[in-house]
Amino acid sequence: MSNQNSSVMMTDGFHLVVDALKLNGLETIYGVPGIPITDLARLAQAEGIRFIGFRHEQSAGNAAAIAGYLTKKPGICLTVSAPGFLNGLVALANATTNGFPMIQISGSSERAIIDLQQGDYEELDQMNAAKPYAKAAYRVDRPEDIGIGLARAIRAAVSGRPGGVYLDLPATLLSATIDAEDAAASLVKVVDPAPRQIPSPEAVERAVSLLAQAERPLFILGKGAAYAQADSSIRELVEKTGIPFLPMSMAKGLLPDNHPQCAAAARSYALAQADTVMLVGARLNWLLGHGKSPQWSKNARFIQLDIQPTEIDSNRAIAAPLVGDIGSSVTALLAAIKPGAVKAAASWVRDLEEHKARNTERMNVHLAADPKPMDFYSALGAIRGVLEDMPDVYLVNEGANTLDITRNVIDMHSPRKRLDCGTWGVMGIGMGYAIGAAVTSGEPVVAIEGDSAFGFSGMELETICRYGLPIVTIIFNNGGIYKGDDVNRSGGTDPSPTVFIKNARYEKLLEAFGGLGDYVTTPAGLTKALVGALASRKPALINCVIDPTAGTESGHIQNLNPQSAVGFGKEKQAEASDSH
Ligand code: ADP
Ligand code: MG
Repeated sequence: MSNQNSSVMMTDGFHLVVDALKLNGLETIYGVPGIPITDLARLAQAEGIRFIGFRHEQSAGNAAAIAGYLTKKPGICLTVSAPGFLNGLVALANATTNGFPMIQISGSSERAIIDLQQGDYEELDQMNAAKPYAKAAYRVDRPEDIGIGLARAIRAAVSGRPGGVYLDLPATLLSATIDAEDAAASLVKVVDPAPRQIPSPEAVERAVSLLAQAERPLFILGKGAAYAQADSSIRELVEKTGIPFLPMSMAKGLLPDNHPQCAAAARSYALAQADTVMLVGARLNWLLGHGKSPQWSKNARFIQLDIQPTEIDSNRAIAAPLVGDIGSSVTALLAAIKPGAVKAAASWVRDLEEHKARNTERMNVHLAADPKPMDFYSALGAIRGVLEDMPDVYLVNEGANTLDITRNVIDMHSPRKRLDCGTWGVMGIGMGYAIGAAVTSGEPVVAIEGDSAFGFSGMELETICRYGLPIVTIIFNNGGIYKGDDVNRSGGTDPSPTVFIKNARYEKLLEAFGGLGDYVTTPAGLTKALVGALASRKPALINCVIDPTAGTESGHIQNLNPQSAVGFGKEKQAEASDSH
């Protein structure tokens, strides 16, 4: 759209940004309006881009990041300058850490004043602040560079290992005018933004020969594999070789959790006993014990499929690196593996089966216990019963015990449906991810939230109601961080640092915005509430009251929690678990 200016058609930065986004098929913006980007949001909406307005930039950024993960197109987050920019930065850094493609676009104030630090409205050197936390950061200073600026941002976000990109748009750029014909010619439609990366034939041979020598091989599927959307070739590779697989948290459902080759229920045993491990889009970071003993065998040999060459050998020697995109690498492996050349020893498969059966039995005891008040297991058993037949429902999950136990109890049946705390184990992604998933897919979302985790993004309930999104938020309300029964060791009247108000009525928060609130104290009540909420396809919140004494300090990662050597004494050690 352009403005008439005497005889020459003129346009401006606002219009050019919108035109550039649309030209590249970026048709949703997640953001919070304000100076200097309010008119950008309005104009985008007027021109057919969907604008989802949030109450806090961190949630907008999280929504954009998860939209990027689900679609392989960068999710767009739009913020105001300095404080709004910084609020969004946590989400941008989280996207970079997790390998999700997103672009945070922030308006900024007067460059000359920022550089001399003369105290402008919302003054901040945003591009330099963003750099350490982003995969790339750019500023566009001239309207004729908007097309190139967005093209660079898109390529940086989605090529290679995806990540968060920062794009700085000064207020003066947005209002700057430019000849409309020159402007149109300056736009760039990005061709092949995430080119295939084909692994070398030698690397493929090396990997195949290692697999062929294996007796106790194991595949680890990570969220890089889920992101790649190479679902059918990954399944073919797994089934053709008969090799057992373990999904990382967000890769659950890439192959269904009830697949006979899924070793999730025998996780610790599988890690410790495998002699040859093939990592498929999964990093050997803290979530995998850095690949070290005693979690892993000292003698195990590793194959790693990754798009990022520098990921190889990051924690442990990798005997056969396979650098390329997962789709190309898996296809190459399939072509190179001769029929019958690669297989798992029958004794290995049998041992895993035995461990799976034993652990499944233990889990079933937990699920059948039905204690009063409800605990995590009985609540999750009810949810599992409802979700079993609904593979299209997205599951967002954050918390400590709520995260760990949900991951173990709720099976996933289709790819990229489980969205959780990810690589950082961050809290606060809940409502942002839920909104991003619902907007992107149009499918219902169930967000299973610890009461503490929920608080970080809870105000977005208003956003959910405003857009009428089919999101059911279930709060596991045990009245505190980890547990609700901690005490003030001074004997004073202030509550313990980890304790919240007892019996909080979270469901009334949603009712305040016209949504459906429910308060449940039994598994049967929870089942009924969830079935009704999902059938309505309306915003709902189920306040699910859990025993305040249920839960363990730090959930399943208590080993990461330093405890005073001379102070409170060692808390009860977390139950040995087969999670992560
Ligand atoms: P998880 O937490 O599930 O183990 P990570 O995020 O640690 O997964 O690891 C994902 C890995 O996948 C990263 O090292 C990333 O470079 C890689 N990756 C992401 N996308 C692709 C892709 N398309 N092809 C190959 N590797 C990818
Ligand atoms: Mg809690």
